[in-house]
Amino acid sequence: MLKSVQQLIRKTGQAIGLSASDIEYLLTPEHKHQFEIEVADKKYPAFRVQHNSVRGPYKGGIRYHPHVSLDDAQALATLMSFKTAAVDLPLGGGKGEVGVNPKEVSEQELEEISREYVRHLVDHIGPDKDIPAPDVNTNAKIMDWMADEYGKLTGQTGKTAFTGKSIANGGSEGREGATGRGGMVALQELLKLHKAGDEPLRVAVQGVGNVGSFFVDLIQEDSRLQLVAASDSSSTVVAESGLDPKEVVKAKQQRGSLKESVYVTGLVNDGKAQVLAPEEIVKQRVDILVLAALGGVVHAENQAHVEARYILELANGPVDDEAFPGLYDRGVIVIPDIIANAGGVIVSYLEWQQNLKDEHWDEERVNNELDRYIKTAVNTIYQESEKRGLDLKLAALAVGMERILAARSS
Ligand code: NAD
Repeated sequence: MLKSVQQLIRKTGQAIGLSASDIEYLLTPEHKHQFEIEVADKKYPAFRVQHNSVRGPYKGGIRYHPHVSLDDAQALATLMSFKTAAVDLPLGGGKGEVGVNPKEVSEQELEEISREYVRHLVDHIGPDKDIPAPDVNTNAKIMDWMADEYGKLTGQTGKTAFTGKSIANGGSEGREGATGRGGMVALQELLKLHKAGDEPLRVAVQGVGNVGSFFVDLIQEDSRLQLVAASDSSSTVVAESGLDPKEVVKAKQQRGSLKESVYVTGLVNDGKAQVLAPEEIVKQRVDILVLAALGGVVHAENQAHVEARYILELANGPVDDEAFPGLYDRGVIVIPDIIANAGGVIVSYLEWQQNLKDEHWDEERVNNELDRYIKTAVNTIYQESEKRGLDLKLAALAVGMERILAARSS
């Protein structure tokens, strides 16, 4: 992953005429922390990579997963710097990882691992230095433990040092749905720039989890959008007459899998649905393909089967590098992950702002701010892509790079 991220940065840097030394600067993380956490006689590898802070404190999640590596954390931290810059947040990029499967430890051990992580890093994190957030397998409860530990160690409030906390502990309204909502706003803004008008648009969504379910839920608010296919790890469900978005989310939450849900009354508009293999979702005859599950699901081998005109990258890197040239040649527009899924980090930033001012905003205010950041970012990368003849992915990275370099020299 690190190699592929670095290649992408080199390619974009060269496309916009950056010097070799500027590209090297953009590739080089400022700090790499690597240590071991020992709890109940077991040792867990742990990392925090702080990539770039020239625009503000490092920002990025902490993931708990049995397979982690320093290189992986560096790749994700690097992407975070470009994401925060591309959406114009006054933040840098970082990422943390702990090599633990939370399902294999007790709750008490999980808490101790989380607190120990903070003890190792206490001198390197904090509201002016690095503000971590949840990521894969971490959540508000873990952030609350970490914020509490930071407060105990420093004598300051831990609230401003972590985001993604519980509402009771200073978390923000709207955080849960932020990534799905941001993706919908990005899609609608691009459709506006493309003067899409009122014509109906068929939509397929891969992944109805945290992110995908909030996106699906918003489909019913846009009368142009019709959900005709949805998938999870069990299957792809396709219905020519349409799927009811609310029922899809409800059924998935209640029954666990779409395959089990397909015969729920009201889910399929005319009751006629096809159940296909999970990977068939990318080949459906739709206008918009929304990828909200995994990385690398559209690749060199299957990109030619994509029939959609637009791909919305809600997951991280769902279209792999080798698929891009073919899609670009066929005129498929990819709305890139660093903008499409930036809603989470934007609301994290808004949470931090609320904590610094000791305020709590209502959901409407948070959503309005989120929408404003995403709309501005889409317009900026669209103009950059027109100006430089780049696809939107490279244009988004180019905007991020230019902002980081401008901050360094100011
Ligand atoms: P999640 O685990 O809640 O949901 C993932 C969904 O993908 C589930 O519905 C699962 O059934 C489905 N899935 C798994 N394998 C599949 C397959 N082979 N085919 C089709 N569907 C499959 O995860 P999430 O939090 O919704 O995150 C989804 C993606 O978005 C991840 O790539 C994540 O890194 C990225 N992301 C999440 C956030 C956030 O705020 N949660 C922010 C930015 C990016």
